[in-house]
Amino acid sequence: MNTICIKCPMGCPLTVEERDGKIIVNGNTCKRGELYGAEEYREPKRAITSLVRTKSGEVASVKTSCDVPKDRIKDVVEFIGGLTVGDGVRIGDVVATDVLGLGADIVITGRRN
Ligand code: SF4
Repeated sequence: MNTICIKCPMGCPLTVEERDGKIIVNGNTCKRGELYGAEEYREPKRAITSLVRTKSGEVASVKTSCDVPKDRIKDVVEFIGGLTVGDGVRIGDVVATDVLGLGADIVITGRRN
């Protein structure tokens, strides 16, 4: 498998393969890239950013508190789309916990009018 490490702006091109049950990562410049490549091979994950409505119809931006499995992104985005948060939310407020049992909370990152 070929991929690009997204853990820093260098964007090292990675090659990941499995040999005798062991995951081999090549092309990384540092340990973070090796870990990223192995995770991309086994269970790719991503953080999610999105928008939610407040009760008065304003918009707040949110993010997941941690990465979630890539194949569950659609489910989490749908969950977030069903949220309505209080008008008094502030940056850093957690508006949902352990979404879909994935261990990720939904955190307010900004407000828009
Ligand atoms: S392997 Fe290391 S240096 Fe290369 S993109 Fe990933 S984090 Fe950055």
